[in-house]
Amino acid sequence: MADKRDLITVIGACNVDLITYVSRFPKPGETIRGVTHKKGFGGKGANQAVQAAKLGASVHMISKLGQDVYASETRSNFTKSGVDHTKVFTCADPEIPSGLAPITVETSTGQNSIVIIGGANDELTVEEIESCREIIRRSSWLVVQLEIPQEMSLQAMRIASEEKTKVLFNPAPGVSELSQEFFTLSDLVVLNETELELITQKKVTNSQEAKQVAPYLIHSLSTKAAVVTLGSEGAFYISKEENFSVEGVKVDQVVDTTGAGDSFIGSLVYFLFVGTDIRRALQMSNQIAALSVQSKGTQSSYPDRSVLKSLQ
Ligand code: ATP
Repeated sequence: MADKRDLITVIGACNVDLITYVSRFPKPGETIRGVTHKKGFGGKGANQAVQAAKLGASVHMISKLGQDVYASETRSNFTKSGVDHTKVFTCADPEIPSGLAPITVETSTGQNSIVIIGGANDELTVEEIESCREIIRRSSWLVVQLEIPQEMSLQAMRIASEEKTKVLFNPAPGVSELSQEFFTLSDLVVLNETELELITQKKVTNSQEAKQVAPYLIHSLSTKAAVVTLGSEGAFYISKEENFSVEGVKVDQVVDTTGAGDSFIGSLVYFLFVGTDIRRALQMSNQIAALSVQSKGTQSSYPDRSVLKSLQ
């Protein structure tokens, strides 16, 4: 059979974000009136899948939902965004809820507090992941984060390795202890400064320190190549062969940076999928993520393929 690789697969979490806006945080035991509320779709995996699909890739999501109203809303959102959700499984136990993130935003300061309930995301099984082998085999890239049980992420990465599918690993949310296998099974690791600090256990407080610490990923963790995202300062690429910086895009007004990292990763995997070289792919992902911080919301702020022609 011909080795046809016309897909991107993302394995990870899908959550519904329930955002409550308050003028100040309530004290424990206190009831206050909020300003307003909003619902959004999130989960790092879901965000990355949606960004890659919005740019035009054929994207499959591997995840798990409950049997509640959030599950059907999440599926409708995937359909609307062009993400194939046939491998988003449903929990047999009706008591297990879909992943949910109640978020409280204090309007006076912009500060937030977030609770994440993994729910069905924590229930993916080895058998379900094995049933995705054919999709992974047909993918040029598998994208993995750390919002589902680590063993399930690793299982998908092992299948990718057996099927010669490349792996983009985003070790987020950051953890301080991670099996070396995550790094040896990855073709590209993409992480922010906080995640770099946690993984390397070395101080990273600015982009200069990030560039000094990044070689540790290559020399001590055997990562083939890595990208450290540096917020408004862009990104830094490192491999055994070369390293270079991609300058941040100057933005007139930063409106909302939530999910910028996922926009960057979804864009990066899209550009690599269509055959763009890494330097150019990073320059363009940097521009797409910079566009995403200029409007409100997470997935709703992600640019679609109409912006491709205007990229520098
Ligand atoms: P988040 O947690 O908000 O999703 P992150 O911490 O994972 O983001 P960052 O390094 O902050 O990731 O940002 C990812 C990318 O988004 C950057 O590499 C850059 O391309 C773009 N970006 C983020 N903030 C800005 C900004 N203020 N101006 C321009 N581009 C930005």
